Amino acid sequence: MHVAVLGGGILGLTAALRLAQAGARVTVLERETEAGGLAAGFRVGPVWLEKFYHHIFRSDRAMIRLTEELGLDDRLIWQAPRNPTFYQGETHRLDSPLTLLRFPPLRLDERLRMGAAMAYLRLLPPLGMEGKPAAPWIRRWMGSGPYRVLWEPALRAKFGPLAEEIALPWFWARVHDRSVELGYLRGGFQQVYERLVEQIRALGGDIRTGVSVERVACESGRMVVNTSAGPLPVERVLSTLPPRVTSALAPELPEDYRTRYAWGQAYGAHCLIIATDRRLTDGYWMNISDPGFPFMVLVEHTNLMPAGDYGGRHLIYLGNYRAMDDPLMQAEKEDVLAQFLPHISRINPAFRPEWVTESWMFRAPYAQPIVTVDYRDHIPPLDTPVAGLYQASMFQVYPHDRGQNYSILLAEQAASRILS
Ligand SMILES: Cc1cc2nc3c(=O)[nH]c(=O)nc-3n(C[C@H](O)[C@H](O)[C@H](O)COP(=O)(O)OP(=O)(O)OC[C@H]3O[C@@H](n4cnc5c(N)ncnc54)[C@H](O)[C@@H]3O)c2cc1C
Repeated sequence: MHVAVLGGGILGLTAALRLAQAGARVTVLERETEAGGLAAGFRVGPVWLEKFYHHIFRSDRAMIRLTEELGLDDRLIWQAPRNPTFYQGETHRLDSPLTLLRFPPLRLDERLRMGAAMAYLRLLPPLGMEGKPAAPWIRRWMGSGPYRVLWEPALRAKFGPLAEEIALPWFWARVHDRSVELGYLRGGFQQVYERLVEQIRALGGDIRTGVSVERVACESGRMVVNTSAGPLPVERVLSTLPPRVTSALAPELPEDYRTRYAWGQAYGAHCLIIATDRRLTDGYWMNISDPGFPFMVLVEHTNLMPAGDYGGRHLIYLGNYRAMDDPLMQAEKEDVLAQFLPHISRINPAFRPEWVTESWMFRAPYAQPIVTVDYRDHIPPLDTPVAGLYQASMFQVYPHDRGQNYSILLAEQAASRILS
């Protein structure tokens, strides 16, 4: 059986590995020149750095298992970094029950209520949460203070005007799945992607990068994938692209399928990365809860990994999720630097633009599904109405937030489904 896998991110590569291990012939088609999708890296000195900040949690067991399988687990480092929140011009540590108890922007009763609600989300399953929005639940159980100070800015930054309609099970999973300790693959997660590519190739699989899929058709009982490098006839196709993109590429999918599953909205991701000649803050992940900032998160990667790994560079991500037609998604790097850098002085008044020695900018479409209350009804099954065409994407891991771990689990399910 020859299977074409559309997309060379973690989902496509894991599915391809499992299919190849079971004896199938696989061809992975990836538009970019490197595999890795949203978690792909670029070279900073001798090592890889993700284009978008990445770490894993203790609960990411499938990802941990995959690093073991690929012989990379000795590079997986676990740390409990300081994670602050920037609120009303001040930086406050907020990354554990104890730091919540001491979090000055909230009253003591608000801290206690929020702590109890967080414990509930962490410990209990999401019973009766489906179909309900997160925002009223947070206001009711944590209180209006925590909502206003912490959750409203976070939800707005991630989902824009649809923040009030975000599904409660997604919020539950976001709290439930997270650990205080964060894992990082020293040298970059791209090593996972390189090893996956090596292993798939060793099993006879074909990985074609720089090849864009343009159409998937069923011709005389066979599937044909039309690509920028010509047609590829196969027996089965697994698309790991967003359902909206799969529907656009496969004209034979019926209208009622499209209406139901080519649905909803997604934001793109944008990251400006700066290298500085010194430390900027003492935290790793800083949520920005103050209005007027042009970025929603500041991630000082070299407070998780040593700057020495990157030739002494201190590496800082300034991240955003935005509508794919937002002007920021088209802006030139120099303009974004000019817009963003003055705001860094609000966080560290000593900061001078001369500290910045290098910068990079990345953007990606379809990076954050907008998981509104009716999202579940629009998650496509693995099988599609076109025989031989399967669909498995990070848009199908709800209620979990997208993450490499959940793409791996779905990839394994999809591979079993195709093989069965
Ligand atoms: C800002 C940000 C931060 C994140 N942080 C974390 C984190 O800390 N930890 C974590 O585990 N996860 C994190 N994630 C999520 C993680 O990156 C994704 O869950 C994971 O990479 C999804 O993999 P995937 O293979 O399912 O999809 P993708 O990575 O999106 O792969 C799809 C692939 O399809 C390719 N493609 C698209 N169209 C075509 C076409 N027409 N033809 C051929 N190829 C095509 C794309 O180039 C891409 O490589 C983050 C994501 C973002 C955006």
